[in-house]
Amino acid sequence: PGCLWVVATPIGHRDDFSVRAIETLRSVSVIAAEDTRHSRPLLQHHNIATPLIALHEHNERDAVDAVVRRLLNGDSVALISDAGTPLISDPGFRLVRAARAAGIRCVPVPGACAAIAALSVAGLPSDRFVFEGFLPPKSAARRSRLQELAGEPRTLIFYESSHRVAESLADMRDVFGGEREAVLARELTKLFETVLGEPLIELAARVVADPDQQRGEHVIVVAGRGEEADAKLVEGRRVFAILREELP
Ligand code: SAM
Repeated sequence: PGCLWVVATPIGHRDDFSVRAIETLRSVSVIAAEDTRHSRPLLQHHNIATPLIALHEHNERDAVDAVVRRLLNGDSVALISDAGTPLISDPGFRLVRAARAAGIRCVPVPGACAAIAALSVAGLPSDRFVFEGFLPPKSAARRSRLQELAGEPRTLIFYESSHRVAESLADMRDVFGGEREAVLARELTKLFETVLGEPLIELAARVVADPDQQRGEHVIVVAGRGEEADAKLVEGRRVFAILREELP
């Protein structure tokens, strides 16, 4: 059988593409892409002329069977998504699972990933972290998800789209508390790259006040519930206990 290459592509800057990724994409029989129209200019820019087939959220089930058949027939296939690492908030899970179940070798060709790029410059603890991907689009569901994460001590990483970033930051401020440190990493590797790190109360206000900060693609990195938060809680309880004693 052939080999399934899972190949990371850039998240913005066209040159964040490894030599091995480019060579792999040139040498396989076919590239399974999330959106062939989206990927074509990037591939052309790097002189990759390999035929493309579509493998997206809506046809993944059917496309998987066809791709696995090709792999079993000896073709090598590369999987790419619109940006960054396939399967990371992107299609591909079903294909990789089916390929592995069929005994096909799956080889990663690692590269850009927005979550890791954001974490690498956030200046928040990076020894342990949780990738949460996209939050629910509706506020009630989003808040209840955030509630479940409020006590998480590890650094949290979220993806967010431009039209919801302000709302999500406001919900985070309300649920996690305004003092919690957060970093908004926007348009990484692109012309308008900005990385803002502030307590959630300030970050949420700044993004509302400056609509430019809502444009483009965003990663939100939030500090886990830290010892300061615990210390404040303990201090609050201590003060409350004293007051209860003192008050009539
Ligand atoms: N597979 C991709 C990866 O490895 O990062 C993620 C794909 S997901 C559909 C798209 C989301 O990733 C965007 O909504 C944004 O949250 C984040 N993202 C992708 N590129 C980004 C960039 N250049 N700067 C900031 N965030 C980005």
